[in-house]
Amino acid sequence: MIYFSPINKTYMSSKLDDISLSMGFTTKVIGDGRVIDNVLSYLRINQVIFKSLIVAEQIHSANVASFDSPMHREVELLPETDGIVTTEKGIAIAVRTADCIPIIYCDLKAGVIAASHNGWRGSLKNISSRVIDIMVERGASKENIVVAIGPGIGACCYDVQDERYYSFLEEFDNDFGAFSIRGGKRHLNLLKLNYEILKRIGIKTDNIDFFPFCTMCNKDLFFSYRRDYKKHPDRFGEMFSFIVRN
Ligand SMILES: [Zn+2]
Repeated sequence: MIYFSPINKTYMSSKLDDISLSMGFTTKVIGDGRVIDNVLSYLRINQVIFKSLIVAEQIHSANVASFDSPMHREVELLPETDGIVTTEKGIAIAVRTADCIPIIYCDLKAGVIAASHNGWRGSLKNISSRVIDIMVERGASKENIVVAIGPGIGACCYDVQDERYYSFLEEFDNDFGAFSIRGGKRHLNLLKLNYEILKRIGIKTDNIDFFPFCTMCNKDLFFSYRRDYKKHPDRFGEMFSFIVRN
């Protein structure tokens, strides 16, 4: 279950409630996740134990970076990266989203954690599969990987070009039941798309946590690219999502 913690204004996964790790999908109440100082002060105020923070500077790719030793710097920004995997304790990894879907991965037994930014482009490039392959290379097993899917835009607000539907059919031979026609327009359910892709990769449904958020509908809780980026740039920002083992 994805639940809201009123203390730190953050969504968390009950499947990842464990004393040895901290994770969360933050809300806009925390501030703009593009500002690194906001991320650092959130981690400190909430007494998250970490030595270094690694943040992906995303480009809607399937590029995934992996870290298996301590970092020398407190903050590392990774250019052209949409997924991060680490086996190292004390490294907090973070992705930032506003309508795209953040995904947190963890194999607690193997000590491997990951985070990725999954918009429609990253989903089409199958970034989750790349993340899980790297986790498995680092000792994780698909049976034990727990995945939490965070807040993204809902099918209610996400009408898309028909080409996008055909791109998924071409790439996966499947639309994952994630496309529908509403009011004469094709809509994409990004949550269902990513849930079904994770199932196809081999993640157990019992190990996938999700909640049907819509970042565009819930303007008090979430930033939304589609709602605000062009019309209200002063209100635009991004939420950050993170995981760290201590
Ligand atoms: Zn909506």
